[in-house]
Amino acid sequence: MENAALLDVRAVHKGFAKADGAETVVLDGVDLTLKEGEIVGLLGRSGSGKSTLLRLIAGLSEPGGGSIRYMGRPVDGPPEGLAMVFQSFALFPWLTVLENVEIGLEAIGVPRDERRRRSLEAIDLIGLDGFESAYPRELSGGMRQRVGFARALVVHPNILLMDEPFSALDVLTAETLRTDFLDLWSEGQLPIKGVILVTHNIEEAVLMCDRILIFGSNPGRILREIRVDLPQPRARLDPDFRALVESIYVEMTARRPTEPASAARTERFPGSGIGSVLPRVSTNLLSGLMELVDAAPYNGEADLPVIASALHLEVDDLFPVAETLQMLRFAEFAGGDIKLSAEGRHFAKLDTDERKGLFAKHLLTYVPLAGHIRRVLDERHSQTAPWSRFADELEDYMSSDDAARSLRAVISWGRYAEAFAYDDDTMVFSLDNPGE
Ligand code: ADP
Ligand code: MG
Repeated sequence: MENAALLDVRAVHKGFAKADGAETVVLDGVDLTLKEGEIVGLLGRSGSGKSTLLRLIAGLSEPGGGSIRYMGRPVDGPPEGLAMVFQSFALFPWLTVLENVEIGLEAIGVPRDERRRRSLEAIDLIGLDGFESAYPRELSGGMRQRVGFARALVVHPNILLMDEPFSALDVLTAETLRTDFLDLWSEGQLPIKGVILVTHNIEEAVLMCDRILIFGSNPGRILREIRVDLPQPRARLDPDFRALVESIYVEMTARRPTEPASAARTERFPGSGIGSVLPRVSTNLLSGLMELVDAAPYNGEADLPVIASALHLEVDDLFPVAETLQMLRFAEFAGGDIKLSAEGRHFAKLDTDERKGLFAKHLLTYVPLAGHIRRVLDERHSQTAPWSRFADELEDYMSSDDAARSLRAVISWGRYAEAFAYDDDTMVFSLDNPGE
């Protein structure tokens, strides 16, 4: 049994019922194994089903199909021996650090003395020594997250599940905590056997994981597994590290000919009827990225990992910006590169007013929802239309949340371009010039 998997996930399927009774598939055919001594990363963009998979593994929700086995036994409810660290840990503000950690053991009926002893041990291990009697409000974000780790470790779980545990921390704090965690793990000091780490940060995945499962969206599924053979501790500037980061960018931005047809309606851009979900991306970021890539040393074409680190953006921020530029035909985005079109390069050189004009032209031509709104307003005698006029229509294609998100996105772009106006108080679109 020595090499038996700690965890074995086979062909897992998960869907949620939509308002009309149809099913939205969130996970499709997911396989995953975790062996003793491994850190396995689940890397994917927001909405690709990573947290959903973690909840299934933790026994907090049931799969619609497939099987999940923990130490050889089917998971049917939260198994003992799994602990979770979340993005931001909900600490009890009225309890001290020590009490916040002890609470994890109280829940599983550990006697008082042992609770105290193990909690002090976990606190010590994770670098909170001296803060036992502090209250959460007295701690920095990084220290609070350490309490979250201590609370998970104190139960000596076989598997530690981590859902973007560093993403709410500032860059330096996150790096310190990652490094501390890896040091303890490499030295065999952590009372755990395996780790599953959910992240949308490519470098974090390469820094920490033995294997990385890359998730795709709509439906959430595993596109590829990447084994990371670099020895620990890993250096971000090591050429092999950079090459791996680069190849994952390529993987995550690849156009897939096999993309299922059913995804077309919710797929973000290709085809783009008004049924496409639009990302909330600010026009500041759009112009900022065009300016950056247009200028030297890039001169119109740049590597996404380079741009990401120049702008301190992670995939969840950067990919939507690059994809929006692509939708607007200001850039092409593939193979880990972004390349500005002639119009994109032209845009970068214009002054503010000229930019608005060019943006309006592209917005109304290439974003069907924007063109549609503009046509409806043009045709109406009042030249106005309520939010619900478009929201109802979009809800035929997408959830009401996605419809609202898409309308919010198109409103912010329309305002910038002065293509149409929207009044937040009355929730009415109009052709009033928002600039005047
Ligand atoms: P990730 O963690 O990768 O960002 P999630 O697992 O949170 O992704 O979500 C994946 C998809 O499943 C999203 O589109 C989300 O809206 C949907 N989803 C998650 N939970 C529910 C639920 N309880 N009901 C309906 N849809 C859900
Ligand atoms: Mg998540």
